[in-house]
Amino acid sequence: MQWRLVPEIRDCDDRPPAYVARVEIELINTGSELLLGRILNTHQQWICRKLSDLGYSVSRQVTVNDDASAIEVAVRDALGRSDLVLTTGGLGPTCDDITRDRVAALLGRRLIEREEVLEQIRGYFARFGKPMPNRTKVEALVPEGAIILRNQHGTAPGLAIEVEANKFRRSQTPSWLIMLPGPPRELKPMFLDAVLPLLARVFPLESPFHSRTWRTTGIGESLLEEKLTTPLLPWTQAGMDLGFCARVGEVEVRLSASGTDAPARLEEASRTIRAELGDDVFGEADETFEEVVVRSLGQHRKTVALAESCTGGHIANRITNIPGASAVFLGGFVTYANDVKSRVLGVSESDIAKHGAVSEPVAREMAEGARKLAGADYALGVTGIAGPGGGTPEKPVGTVFIALAGPEGTEVRQFLNALDRETFKFLTAQQALKMLFKRLNALGDR
Ligand code: ATP
Repeated sequence: MQWRLVPEIRDCDDRPPAYVARVEIELINTGSELLLGRILNTHQQWICRKLSDLGYSVSRQVTVNDDASAIEVAVRDALGRSDLVLTTGGLGPTCDDITRDRVAALLGRRLIEREEVLEQIRGYFARFGKPMPNRTKVEALVPEGAIILRNQHGTAPGLAIEVEANKFRRSQTPSWLIMLPGPPRELKPMFLDAVLPLLARVFPLESPFHSRTWRTTGIGESLLEEKLTTPLLPWTQAGMDLGFCARVGEVEVRLSASGTDAPARLEEASRTIRAELGDDVFGEADETFEEVVVRSLGQHRKTVALAESCTGGHIANRITNIPGASAVFLGGFVTYANDVKSRVLGVSESDIAKHGAVSEPVAREMAEGARKLAGADYALGVTGIAGPGGGTPEKPVGTVFIALAGPEGTEVRQFLNALDRETFKFLTAQQALKMLFKRLNALGDR
């Protein structure tokens, strides 16, 4: 069978798969800005997670400066130990982008300008109607024998090189070195579309590994564990691994197992998890909560509007990050000052004076006002005390009222999110979206 790794660029060979029990993988993230603390090394988490979901594990990770000898030493050492070495960053056209050069020198491979890559780079600039800077031509330099991994969202291609056995480590089998670009929007699709298929081809695992992740919101990690431990005994006792991962406003449940029957067993487990957790499960894998809510609004042909005070437009931001939001999101009002709440949304001044701006009636009137103004099916109204000042014994910092107005009536809930302002906004938005999500679920499947 002819296996085409990157169809536009190059056909790959036809060797039969050699199954392996384990692959030694190392990750090298390059970039001085990572070590200066200017940006967070999200590639480390994302790549390790994608690999572990497939049963591969990264045994070592190192971050190095954009420094020729640091990169060379890191790559040489890693190739001395591992079957697969992944590097990120340093493939661009600027003078600190030196990974390609250093790796080619280390491997003793010539860099050859590849016309097909140059053509893609020209095409990229043409699409944006911009002239191609001369410097960008370096990105078409490819080490001899490298497989080119097409960059769909940028110019520098990824490069995968099979390194001769015994060059850096004592081994009868070759190792692989894969260089990936730094920008996440370039790296992620390249990793999924080109690196994972390459990995499946050159390092197919003996025992196929499967895992599924369910994402929950509105339920704490311990309660989740308590709810699921007994119902999932048939799976865990049969050798499946059950894990939980908590982050702000969300806990993930993960089940994993090897074996050809694992997908079917995971599907059964999914039914049990969803039955046990109901509305607390919102999706699987990489789906974000806002994506699921926007999709659900679309499926139910419903629209939403927002009246935000303490979240300052954060809910609107999350919703409008989702493609297709315009079909379901009519508008949002960021009403911070009391008199704007009254003048714009029609919140009663006497209710504000009597109950305070952070109160059940005000949240209710905000939601109802926004719903009426926008002509939406549903509206969320949010008012709260983000802190650090402004709390009272009756309404401490973190107090939030969230109202959901809809054709079925208005519901208001009170929460206490005593957190830093950014986390407070995220969690409050999560709780508001959860109220809407539950209401939409109650409408039934469409
Ligand atoms: P470019 O063509 O943009 O120069 P490159 O392949 O040379 O791409 P870098 O210059 O190393 O990559 O990084 C480009 C940008 O990608 C960084 O400024 C940063 O925003 C992001 N980036 C790089 N490495 C990481 C990382 N490990 N985690 C998250 N973001 C990263």
